[in-house]
Amino acid sequence: MIVCFDIGGTTMKGGYARAVEDINVLERVPTPGRDFDAFVGVLARAIADCPAPPRALAAAIPGIIEPGSGLGVVANVPCISGIPVRERLEAALGLPVALANDADCFALAEVAVGAGRGHRVVLGIILGTGVGGGLVIDGRLINAEGGFAGEWGHGPVAARLAGTPVVEIPRFRCGCGLSGCLDATVSARGMEALHRHLHGKEATSLAIVAGWEAGEAEPVRTIAIWLEIAAAPLAMLVNTTAADIIPVGGGLGGSTALIAALDAAVRPLTLRRFDRPLVVRAQCRVEPGLVGAAWLGFASL
Ligand SMILES: [Zn+2]
Repeated sequence: MIVCFDIGGTTMKGGYARAVEDINVLERVPTPGRDFDAFVGVLARAIADCPAPPRALAAAIPGIIEPGSGLGVVANVPCISGIPVRERLEAALGLPVALANDADCFALAEVAVGAGRGHRVVLGIILGTGVGGGLVIDGRLINAEGGFAGEWGHGPVAARLAGTPVVEIPRFRCGCGLSGCLDATVSARGMEALHRHLHGKEATSLAIVAGWEAGEAEPVRTIAIWLEIAAAPLAMLVNTTAADIIPVGGGLGGSTALIAALDAAVRPLTLRRFDRPLVVRAQCRVEPGLVGAAWLGFASL
């Protein structure tokens, strides 16, 4: 048995996993974001209450482990940022600890119980508040030792011209310090920024997608441009990684029609020809963070 956690900036949730498909989920608790001892306390309590002695603790974190230094980069949980977090937790808890970015855990969950089952190269992507992703090859997370693999949301690659008729797209500023990232252009707030730029109107991403589904002219224009900007880099990722399935999670992944449209936009741009859907909705709907962490934990034993 292992203890798994899905750690967010405001709350964290634990579980006891006998297997990836067999997780007893604990109650969600506030994340003690600025107090390392209190943070360890939450994990230690879960370990102490575990019905059998756990062999490891595995957690999805809202950040990354810096390759090389092993330092956590976790802006939303400052108490585990800037420290060798895995070593510190192992010392405090007396258990092997495995950590991975939450988008990586999302990808692992799709491999374990979702749309990635049976596929060799799974690129799980998040289209929501941010744009992220994780890459799993032959069941192995490419980021298992930390790092940025799968982070296709950052880099100044968003198209500067898009649409028919063509329109200039600004380089929206991104939280990472660059401008023109996909994270700033095709995330939910990126879609809203595109809509504002194109039509001078405020609308939520949900309203834009709903308007597009209803055939309204302005949202149809926004989504056509959004698809064009998102599809090209995604197709290049397919060429680069040999991904043969791309499960989509995050808020925008909730629209079946939008994901089908993204699939239709990506497939003509890849070198490999797919005669079946490539970009699909994620299927692991229940606690992907915990499921992915559990997979990571068992893989680390
Ligand atoms: Zn960025």
